[in-house]
Amino acid sequence: MTIHDDRQPTHEAGPHRTFDSLSPITGDVVASHPLHGEEDVAAAVLAARDEAAWWGALTFEERSARLVAWKGVITRRLAQLADLVHQETGKPHGDALLEASLGIDHLGWAATHAAKHLGRRKVSSGLLMANQAATVEYRPLGVVGVIGPWNYPVFTPMGSIAYALAAGNAVVFKPSELTPGVGEWLARTFREAVGRPVLSVVTGFGDTGAALCRAGVDKVAFTGSTATGKRVMAACAETLTPVVIEAGGKDAVIVDHDADLDAAADATLWGACSNAGQTCTGVERVYVHEKVYDEFLGLLVAKAEGLRADDSLDSPLGPITMPKQLDVIRAHIGDALDRGGRALLGGADAVGDRYVQPTILVDVPEDSRAVCEETFGPTVTVARVGTVEEAIRRTNATSYGLGSTVFSKARGMEIAEQIRSGMTAVNGVITFAAVPSLPFGGVGDSGFGRIHGPDGLREFTYAKAIARQRFKAALPLTSFTRTEKHEQQLVQLMTMLHGRGTTLPKLGRKVRRGR
Ligand code: NDP
Repeated sequence: MTIHDDRQPTHEAGPHRTFDSLSPITGDVVASHPLHGEEDVAAAVLAARDEAAWWGALTFEERSARLVAWKGVITRRLAQLADLVHQETGKPHGDALLEASLGIDHLGWAATHAAKHLGRRKVSSGLLMANQAATVEYRPLGVVGVIGPWNYPVFTPMGSIAYALAAGNAVVFKPSELTPGVGEWLARTFREAVGRPVLSVVTGFGDTGAALCRAGVDKVAFTGSTATGKRVMAACAETLTPVVIEAGGKDAVIVDHDADLDAAADATLWGACSNAGQTCTGVERVYVHEKVYDEFLGLLVAKAEGLRADDSLDSPLGPITMPKQLDVIRAHIGDALDRGGRALLGGADAVGDRYVQPTILVDVPEDSRAVCEETFGPTVTVARVGTVEEAIRRTNATSYGLGSTVFSKARGMEIAEQIRSGMTAVNGVITFAAVPSLPFGGVGDSGFGRIHGPDGLREFTYAKAIARQRFKAALPLTSFTRTEKHEQQLVQLMTMLHGRGTTLPKLGRKVRRGR
């Protein structure tokens, strides 16, 4: 079988050149799609301006009703969508169903919570400005450009698309060149449900994404690798276009000595190998307390032994969707083994020409590629630690900071609070991504900004503050009629309000760590 190159050949077709999306399982053409250039992208953004004007003028309730109608169409055609995801990414049908289901859940939450979190609300005006009625609301930005990856082509972009739409924006979506059909499917069903193309799609390669960054959109929500994220930021900087960057990760699991080891091994295996390891919040490193290291490792290897990636219909693991990633996975495993690491399962031979078998590595140096860089394959390093504090230190010794996992009966929350990552699952794995009211995003090389939850809704808005005078102020502070007497009164008032506290109050003993 030949493996297609990540830059697929293009063809002339009518007014457009086109490119093919291919099945990573068979190499067969799934469909052809337009290769949208700069002018097409500019036209899409221009058309989206009209949609934004209409959509933004609707009430929250009117938008919610339309988004719920779209949600219904997607749900009723879930099997069709999952099949398309399976064709374009190669992931098992069940995994495609799961990611689409979670995307639908987020859409439902965003549609029904936007009014509560974005609608105008009163805030305290304070004693100095007691004559003012202070309110704030969160207004849509206009047109949001969403650039998505291929690994979760429904769930991941939906984290931006649903929240941006619910906040009142129009969206122009550039899906990955590997999954353009999924993007088109989402835009087509939206139009069918809502009657207008408030969500539209441009397809193509990286240049199409770059054109979207320069097309005058009001914000870009990018999900993809850290390296591309930097290019997106640089392009957006030219026009001061704000960005959300959801980039890669190197997530760790910490297993404490009192953990439920069977559950920890099960979660580690699923976190590391589901979607063939191609998950931004996938488990790539594990730090296990020395008291339970051997037992945990035994359980993990035993559970992993039955897991195989192949092209059979019921295979739990699919292929590596992006062929060039095979070289990265091979290099990380090779580097780990060359530097004294051992493969308890898988290893150098685990990387085939489309599939990678589960690989468990131990004794791998902390500065090796398999521990420091995003591998994006079904591989995991497991290390023994003397204390939980050492596990936390090694977990945090990464440039990334997306997700993390803790297994501990007594200290789960305490450990979670000390990990420098945007999200942590305690006694579960990647659970935070499926809770729509929790913000999703990272720190450091994992990016910035948030999707999901109230923070995700506000990410696609600007705060609009209004101070309305209710009655004339006793002290004319913002007027040239202000006199010396008024200023003395101001000083008296300030002394009364803020003049105390010449000595530090005694702090209680429960000072929280790191605050
Ligand atoms: P890439 O960074 O290669 O691509 C992401 C998107 O950016 C694609 O649509 C790509 O288009 C587009 N793109 C490429 N070049 C440019 C450019 N110069 N300007 C604008 N857009 C561009 O990532 P992958 O698709 O390979 O996705 C995998 C990565 O995504 C991993 O690092 C993973 O960790 C991360 N990820 C992060 C998530 C998060 O929420 N934090 C979630 C899921 C994945 P094209 O495909 O056509 O090249």
